[in-house]
Amino acid sequence: MRAQSLSLLRTATRCSRARPHLISSLPARRALRLSSTSAPSKGERKWSTPLAQFLGQAITTTGPISVAAYMRQCLTSELGGYYTRTPTVGEDQFGTKGDFVTSPEISQVFGELIGIWLYAEWLAQGRKEKVQIIEVGPGRGTLMDDVLRTLSSFKRMTKSIEAIYLVEASPHLQKQQALRLAGTEELEKSEVGWKAKCKYFPDCDIQWCEDIRFVPKDETATPFILAHEFFDALPIHVFQNVPASSIPASSTIMTPTGPITPKHGPTAPGNQWHELVVSPTNPYASTPNLKPGEEKPDFEMTVSKSPTPHSLYLPRMSNRYKKLEKTDDAIIEISPESLSYVSDFAVRIGGSDGAASRPSKPGSAPAAKPVSTQDAPFKKAEASGAALILDYGTTDTIPANTLRGIRHHKAVSPFVAPGLVDLSADVDFLALAESALDASDSVEVHGPVDQSFFLATMGIKERAERLLKNAKDDETRVRLEIGWKRLVDRGPNGMGKLYKAMAILPYVEGKKVRRPVGFGGDIMG
Ligand code: SAH
Repeated sequence: MRAQSLSLLRTATRCSRARPHLISSLPARRALRLSSTSAPSKGERKWSTPLAQFLGQAITTTGPISVAAYMRQCLTSELGGYYTRTPTVGEDQFGTKGDFVTSPEISQVFGELIGIWLYAEWLAQGRKEKVQIIEVGPGRGTLMDDVLRTLSSFKRMTKSIEAIYLVEASPHLQKQQALRLAGTEELEKSEVGWKAKCKYFPDCDIQWCEDIRFVPKDETATPFILAHEFFDALPIHVFQNVPASSIPASSTIMTPTGPITPKHGPTAPGNQWHELVVSPTNPYASTPNLKPGEEKPDFEMTVSKSPTPHSLYLPRMSNRYKKLEKTDDAIIEISPESLSYVSDFAVRIGGSDGAASRPSKPGSAPAAKPVSTQDAPFKKAEASGAALILDYGTTDTIPANTLRGIRHHKAVSPFVAPGLVDLSADVDFLALAESALDASDSVEVHGPVDQSFFLATMGIKERAERLLKNAKDDETRVRLEIGWKRLVDRGPNGMGKLYKAMAILPYVEGKKVRRPVGFGGDIMG
């Protein structure tokens, strides 16, 4: 698992340049070609990976980049991102030989209970037709395999499944998923990306695409969406509240369109959110803090000296951030991409009247919204479907200093060996909930609850006991026993406590609130 106690508190240093740029793929390719054809001259800097070299060269040209741009490149760059590069033979991200283990990989019971959860929701919502099963970030396809196998016992429901969509950025993981769920790596081209017949329901296609926006949006469909350890892999922006005392009075203000001079002369500064940006470390500087055997990071995080376009609007999105405006040096992490994803989920379930253009609700900040897909109205005759989000993160506090690198099951600096190290950050569940509720008036949010509560009330103990009774040998018995207990472990770093579950469901005005199973409710049908 990736949620160890890995809070890497770093002291940010001040930096003089702050011109974050997202790197487009064309200069990226060119930079890589250039660097690969020129032999390193004597004294030239050595980078730990080709991706590090590309990023280093790009930053030298354009200036420091945001943590979000750094994360995006490290995880999904076509130039050797952690998920998108082709692993060498025998190499794997998942499992004991890889970098981390996730719940579906620990025990089949996890996916089976999620299958039961979907079935229970389908029953509770009156056995809808035109069901879409959607998973974002399916990894090796293990969770979906356990879910579909479980659902295959419920014929009424499986007949109503129109299509299964897997949103996956990694071409080699798409292949692993296909092998597992369709029994083949040979995928056919489809309108959204690729497709193959599902091995459990041959009448039903599994469709692969790279972004949720490619999954067809149908006002009459009932989408059931799963996101397990997906949001922690989405890029975050990091901001530090710089005290007024350290900001000189200035006669210009930086805006997203450039510097402007205020009509009323120099502004008296208050505290200001400044973005933490990423730039190369000085290769000649000594590194006294490095422990024996630790690699020297290629990059470091610094506080940008002046506001960036993101620091001017993201921290104004919610009153939760505004409340920290007077707290010197407070750090907040915001993931606009996560908010955009969860808004998309909410609209698919509840519909929208173009929520992004709606005025803010009373009490909420006059929000600048994240990049949104919700401007076009999407009218559902009846809200239907559900999203189940499982990940590690905070229940109600704002994550700070949670960016982490994981390699071979150990915490490492997120700035070593870019592309070879998994990067992730805590999920801000309350921000996800706010975003879902803002995006659609016809959804409600349940949780987050601890994974141990969710799984216990879904009947993990009873299910594990049944499997134990039928286990064919001692080895299977021990694996099952250790596995299910690990998922609900409530020790300080236990998965049952660190991981949370949150559900987005249809909301019907005037109807009695129904708690879903796993969140305090009972199975009904
Ligand atoms: N859900 C799986 C895998 C978690 S790892 C499990 O729990 O075992 C994160 C997954 O999200 C991987 O499949 C990775 O390739 C995918 N992913 C990461 N960033 C993505 C992005 N921006 N878009 C689509 N998929 C992404």
